[in-house]
Amino acid sequence: MRLVLLGPPGAGKGTQAANIVKKYQIPHISTGDIFRKNIKEGTELGVKAKEYIDQGLLVPDDIVVAIVKDRLVEDDCKEGFLLDGFPRTVAQAEALDQELKDLGYNLNNVINIEVDKNELIERAVGRRICKECGATYHIKFNPPSKAGICDVCGGELYQRKDDTEETVNKRIKVYLDQTEPLISYYTDQGIIANINGEQDIDKVFKDIVDVLGSEN
Ligand SMILES: [Zn+2]
Repeated sequence: MRLVLLGPPGAGKGTQAANIVKKYQIPHISTGDIFRKNIKEGTELGVKAKEYIDQGLLVPDDIVVAIVKDRLVEDDCKEGFLLDGFPRTVAQAEALDQELKDLGYNLNNVINIEVDKNELIERAVGRRICKECGATYHIKFNPPSKAGICDVCGGELYQRKDDTEETVNKRIKVYLDQTEPLISYYTDQGIIANINGEQDIDKVFKDIVDVLGSEN
C-alpha cells in the first residue's frame, strides 16, 4: 500500500498517520524525520540540505526528491509506505511518480484530511501546553479540570507564541497556496480521497479505512 497523506497544520495528520502505519504495517516516511537523520549522519545530501536550512531557505526540489528516493529504495518500503510532508509541489509529485514507475510501482491513494480554516484557527488558538510535561489541552475541546493547570503533573499551561490567530492564518494560507495545485494533480489522477477531518478522531480514521480497505 503506497500512500501520501495531505492535510493542513492542525488537521490531526500526526494522529491519523500513526493509526494508518499501525493498522497497515507500513513505514511512516516523514520528510522532516529523514532530513534530520541525513543531517545528523552527515550524508552528502544532508550536508547540502543543511546549507539551505541554515540560511532559512527552502531546500530545492532536486535535493528533497533525492533524499526521499534514497529512503524509498530501502527494504522496509517494498510492501508500501506512508509519505508525510512530501510531495509539497507538483514538480515533486511528478518526480515521485517517475521514481515509483522506475521501481515498478504506483501510488495507491492520496488521503487528504480537510478541515475548514476557521476550525483550524479555533483549534490552534485554544491550544494550551504544559510547561512541565508537554501534555496538550484545548480550552474548549479538551480543557484541564482546573483552568491553567495540568491534570497530569500540576504544571502551568501556556500558549505557544505562534498559535495566535494571525500566525495560524498565515500558516494555513501558505499551506493552501502550496497544496491546491497538488490536490488538483491527484484529483486528475483519480486517486485522492477527501476525508472530513472535523469529526472525532475515531470517525476520521474509520473513513480512512473505508477508503483503504480493512486488509493490509
Ligand atoms: Zn503537565
